[in-house]
Amino acid sequence: MPRQPGILFDRRYYEHSIPQQSLENAGRVRSLYHSLEGPEYAGLLRTYQPREATVADIEAVHSGFYLEQLREHANAEDPYSYDRDTYLMEQSLYTAALAAGGCLELADRIMGGEIDYGFALIRPPGHHAEPGRGMGFCVLNNVAITAEYLRRMYGLDRILILDFDVHHGNGTQAVFYETEQVLFVSIHQEKLFPFTGTAGETGSGRGRGYTINLPVHQQFADPEYLFLLGRVLGGVVEQYLPQIILVSAGYDGHHADSISRIMLTTGWYGTVTELLKHLAQEACGNRLLLVLEGGYNPVSLEESVLATVDGLLRPVGRRPGVIHSERAARILANHPLHAFWTV
Ligand SMILES: [Zn+2]
Repeated sequence: MPRQPGILFDRRYYEHSIPQQSLENAGRVRSLYHSLEGPEYAGLLRTYQPREATVADIEAVHSGFYLEQLREHANAEDPYSYDRDTYLMEQSLYTAALAAGGCLELADRIMGGEIDYGFALIRPPGHHAEPGRGMGFCVLNNVAITAEYLRRMYGLDRILILDFDVHHGNGTQAVFYETEQVLFVSIHQEKLFPFTGTAGETGSGRGRGYTINLPVHQQFADPEYLFLLGRVLGGVVEQYLPQIILVSAGYDGHHADSISRIMLTTGWYGTVTELLKHLAQEACGNRLLLVLEGGYNPVSLEESVLATVDGLLRPVGRRPGVIHSERAARILANHPLHAFWTV
C-alpha cells in the first residue's frame, strides 16, 4: 500500500480577491477544493492546513523594500496601482504569506518523513515574483521561499526545481541564477509573457549550468513535452542527485486554457507525475513537493490537478516511455545545456 500523499488547501486562499474581473481569482480553485473533500478521495489523502510564512522566511527571497511596497499598495484605492496584472488588496499579503507558508508546512512534513509526496494547492501563485517585484499575478515566490527554507532549516544544497507552467519562471530563475545549490529547469512556451527564459540563459558565476530553459513552440503537446522532460530530467537527476524535487506546477499549458498555445491533455499531468515519482525514487527517497502556479480555465485546471493527484495515488509502476519526437529533438540539438550535462 503506497503512503498517502499530503494535500494542502484552505478556504482562506479565497481572500485575495477583488470585484473586478481577473483571470487569477478564487473561482479557479473552489470546485477543486470541493472535489478533494468529496467521497472519491475519502480516506486516500492526508490533508494539511497552512501556516503563515514568517517575515524571515519571506525576506530570505524578497527585499524589505518590496514588502513595504506591498503593504502600501494593498491599501490603495486602485487594486492595480502596483502592477497592471497583479492586483493587491487588504488581504493580499496575508493570503500570499499563507500560500508560501502552506508550502513550508508540506516541506516540513516531507523532511520529517511523515509523507513522501506533497501538493500545495495554494494561491496567489508565485513563480513570476522576483526578489524586488511582483508581477504576472504573483505576489510572493512560494517555490523560491520553500527552496531557501530547505537550505536554511535542513541544510540541503542540491534542490531541483522543475517549472512546467506554460510561462517562464523568471522570478525563481532570478533568485537562484548564481547558485549551484538549486538547479532550475523551466519548460515554457517561447515568446510568451514574461518574454524571458531563452535557452542561452544558463546561470552565472557558481550557478553556470544550473539554470536550464526549454522554450518550446506553439502547438507542442504531450509527446514533445514528455520527450524533452524525459531526456533532460532523466539525465540531470542522475548527475545532480537532488535531495528533493520541487515542482512549479502550472496548468495553463492545457489545450483548453486559452492563455497559451500549448496543447497538453489532462492525461499528460498524470504521466509527468509518474515520471517525477520515478525520479524522486531514484534520487531522493521519494521527496517530491508540487506547488500550484497558473491555470486559468477552472474546468481544465481541476481535471488536471486531479490527474496529478491520481498520479500521486497510483503505485510507482513502469517509468513512462519516451517516444522520439523530431520537433522536440531539434530543441535539444544545439542546446547549451550539453556543455554542462549529459542528456
Ligand atoms: Zn503561467
